[in-house]
Amino acid sequence: MADLIDDLRAALPDGAVLTDPDLLRGHQRDEADLCEYGTPAVVVRPRTTEEVVAVIQIAAALGVPVVPQGARTGLAGAANAVDGAIVLSTTAMDRIIEVDPVNRIAVVQPGVINAALAAEVGRHGLRYPPDPGSWESSTIGGNVATNAGGMCCVKYGVTGEYVLGLEVVLASGEVLRTGRRTAKGVAGYDLTRLFVGSEGTLGVITEITLSLRPAAEDSLTLVAVFPSTAAAGAAVAAISARGLTPSLLELLDQTHLIALEAYRPMGLRTDAKALLLAASDTGLRAAADLERIAELCGEAGADEVYAATDADEAAALLQARRNAHGAMEKYAAEAFPGGNGGLIIDDVAVPRSALAALLDGTEKIAAEHGVAIGVVGHAGDGNMHPNIVVNRADPASVTQCRRAFDDIMALGLSLGGTCTGEHGVGLLKRDWLARELGPVGVGVHKSIKAALDPAGLLNPGKILT
Ligand SMILES: Cc1cc2nc3c(=O)[nH]c(=O)nc-3n(C[C@H](O)[C@H](O)[C@H](O)COP(=O)(O)OP(=O)(O)OC[C@H]3O[C@@H](n4cnc5c(N)ncnc54)[C@H](O)[C@@H]3O)c2cc1C
Repeated sequence: MADLIDDLRAALPDGAVLTDPDLLRGHQRDEADLCEYGTPAVVVRPRTTEEVVAVIQIAAALGVPVVPQGARTGLAGAANAVDGAIVLSTTAMDRIIEVDPVNRIAVVQPGVINAALAAEVGRHGLRYPPDPGSWESSTIGGNVATNAGGMCCVKYGVTGEYVLGLEVVLASGEVLRTGRRTAKGVAGYDLTRLFVGSEGTLGVITEITLSLRPAAEDSLTLVAVFPSTAAAGAAVAAISARGLTPSLLELLDQTHLIALEAYRPMGLRTDAKALLLAASDTGLRAAADLERIAELCGEAGADEVYAATDADEAAALLQARRNAHGAMEKYAAEAFPGGNGGLIIDDVAVPRSALAALLDGTEKIAAEHGVAIGVVGHAGDGNMHPNIVVNRADPASVTQCRRAFDDIMALGLSLGGTCTGEHGVGLLKRDWLARELGPVGVGVHKSIKAALDPAGLLNPGKILT
């Protein structure tokens, strides 16, 4: 332990090696509830690739695990520390190295905050679309390592679709450069894609080359209110079947509407069973697109459809969707006072055609287990987040909630879905990943891990047991 700290202090600049016990406790875990975590021996905050290399070499020499962390907003326990580990925080690697409007690319260090990048490229008339709900706090490195989705991904795709190339420090201490800066390129295996979504288990991402889009055209927003979640799901399937591509298609169920009105009141209808928020950013065509979406919502059973009157109202509605996590945390805290209320957050994604069945089935699972489940999510992607409200202090509640979580996972897989649409596997979904992949898929995962990290020091225990 003394060797570890001495070696790190010798290799890194002043202030980059932190051992204050409060700070170590602050870096134990991400935002996922009920996932195990340990206490790191040290937190390091390198600023350069060379400093990351030094950390990895010291870790390899002493056999100490390394847990990369961005902003710790993850929802799967993927950034949770293990006892005695080096937590490698990327928060000081926060430089936007380059924005190139001609080639429409940006090159960034991993600790850049998503919203800071969006603002910077906006000054060049460009846009970086992936916008997770956590965009004001999560890092691009964390977004890449989890292949994060977001609100506008229904039209523009998830993080991985924007990653052109990476610089990665491998477990050996070597620096690997993958990918390209060109619009096209097919040289060799797609190593970039291998590291996207690898949750810190294959290497530490130290630089990211991202593709950008032109700024979006003007958008319009509408709200459709439904008497059942399944009807909202049917509307999503109809919108997709008609070839419409909204730039936002989000669902909030009644529990979320109630939680949001208690959190930041804005006149949402709390008697509704579900609300769909849809937007179209096709400029002059947006009004016509939304009219068709409104018709399809009506045909699916919406009892009220209304358009946002102006950009401010549209922004307020989007912000309400972004507030869903905070609102549900407050809801859970009030349901089980004394700091006992928590959330187990599912992240199942199903084919859009199966969304209604998933929503219907989730309601039945909540009733069967006698637990409160609020559902929110990226409906246009078929990606739902059932939030299961748990009393952490009551083992019976924890057991019931875990059973409900598993039943939702099983339902999602039976509908042709996946155990994680965007949050990643982390610790929370390791068993379900193994079921989804099957033995051959698990074997290939293990072979890749063994080839790149034979000593198993990078983010141990995540993704696979
Ligand atoms: C309110 C709220 C809303 C959210 N909304 C969304 C959403 O809409 N869509 C979505 O996908 N997620 C969402 N999330 C989850 C979370 O924000 C994302 O998973 C995000 O990508 C995590 O980024 P981070 O910087 O916090 O990474 P962390 O949580 O710190 O780490 C996540 C994973 O990435 C690894 N990692 C981080 N940096 C690196 C690196 N440089 N090299 C290698 N590995 C690294 C870590 O080891 C860990 O495995 C939300 C979370 C919250 C709290």
